[in-house]
Amino acid sequence: MPKTDPDKEKKQRRVFLKQAADMLEETKKQLLREIRGRVKEETEGVKDDGRDTYDLASDERDREINFILNAREREKLLAIDEALQRIKGKTYGLCESCEGEIQLGRLKVLPFTRLCVRCQEENEKENKRQKTLEDERGYRKLVMNDFEEEGF
Ligand SMILES: [Zn+2]
Repeated sequence: MPKTDPDKEKKQRRVFLKQAADMLEETKKQLLREIRGRVKEETEGVKDDGRDTYDLASDERDREINFILNAREREKLLAIDEALQRIKGKTYGLCESCEGEIQLGRLKVLPFTRLCVRCQEENEKENKRQKTLEDERGYRKLVMNDFEEEGF
């Protein structure tokens, strides 16, 4: 007997995806509301060119919002949009590397993750290996440069 019923797990997954989508939409709305509030505050003092800021075309307002976003907020919005896209495209929760399902428990803790635990670990190992290689190469290059400088 398997420990978990696969049907039950599938259902849990579906429920989670729905919840995740709602949660992401809500977070996004909240973030935009905060930012809009700030835009309003910051533009209210300079409304004397005869034009109400809120009559501006919405793309112009979006630009303004974009401008006022800080890097962290922009990153967060991007991550949310990406996750929402992936939920719509049914690729959310699937590992980008091995295409297996990312464990539900992991998704709950790291809703923006794109790799399963195993691939994440592989990835980190690989990054470390790459870095070591680069360091070695960098070292060799340094040694070579020393030679060159001395006229060899
Ligand atoms: Zn994987």
